[in-house]
Amino acid sequence: SGSPSSVRTPLIEIDNVDFGYTATPVVRDISLRIDAGEYVAVVGPNGSGKSTLMELMLGLLEPDQGTAQLFGEPAHKFDDGSRIGYVAQHASASKEMPITVREVVKMGRFPHVGFGRLSDSDWDIVDRALDTVGMSAFADRRVTQLSGGQRQRAFIARALAGEADLLVLDEPTVGVDAESVEAFYKLLESLNDEGITILLIEHDLAAVTDHADRVVCLNGEVYFDGPTEEFVDSDALARTFGAVTTTPGDAT
Ligand code: ADP
Repeated sequence: SGSPSSVRTPLIEIDNVDFGYTATPVVRDISLRIDAGEYVAVVGPNGSGKSTLMELMLGLLEPDQGTAQLFGEPAHKFDDGSRIGYVAQHASASKEMPITVREVVKMGRFPHVGFGRLSDSDWDIVDRALDTVGMSAFADRRVTQLSGGQRQRAFIARALAGEADLLVLDEPTVGVDAESVEAFYKLLESLNDEGITILLIEHDLAAVTDHADRVVCLNGEVYFDGPTEEFVDSDALARTFGAVTTTPGDAT
């Protein structure tokens, strides 16, 4: 830090983006960039456009107005999926596909080996990923037999095996038992310490204020974007989350 060459390439850059599924915009005039190494949480009430924004960032949706770039390319054209690890809400892991944890994590190597055989060094990467997320002891267990938290760890391990540098998580601890949630966020923190960029879509504000470095608070528009400490002290919380429960007539 502080060096003259510390010009950073944004992993994600959203400029003046509007998007609606119908004529009514769901997100309006969103601009934000996420740099390598950040730990950013996107928060907002239900229906505030968090998942929509994430899909715009990942190029799964195209903006009606404005531009979305991913690793310096138009997001919808970006196709090096191995750089991005995606952990969905209720990672419900195909009930009809009773594969083991190791097999799930092995899939992370596919973009690197084609669909060919994994070499010994590929398997080392798989084993290291399992170890990093604390799932070595469950490697041969079927994903369908895991707890919610264990399953999410398995999906993170798959991303690590793929050598993803951006981890995108959409409310990853929904359905995860309370005792495992804290450990899960600790794991994200340690991955971030190792240089992995974390983009967390989260409804649980406590989790966000405890762990993320930066908060983007959304309710159709960006109400706040800045360091977590400033978010905690700001009125963005009341303004955004208050917006859905405000009684009519108390406008200031
Ligand atoms: P959040 O993730 O914050 O709960 P979403 O991005 O899922 O918010 O939803 C924002 C708004 O867009 C909501 O009003 C939702 O009903 C609407 N929406 C989401 N997905 C679709 C879709 N596929 N088609 C039409 N409307 C949608």
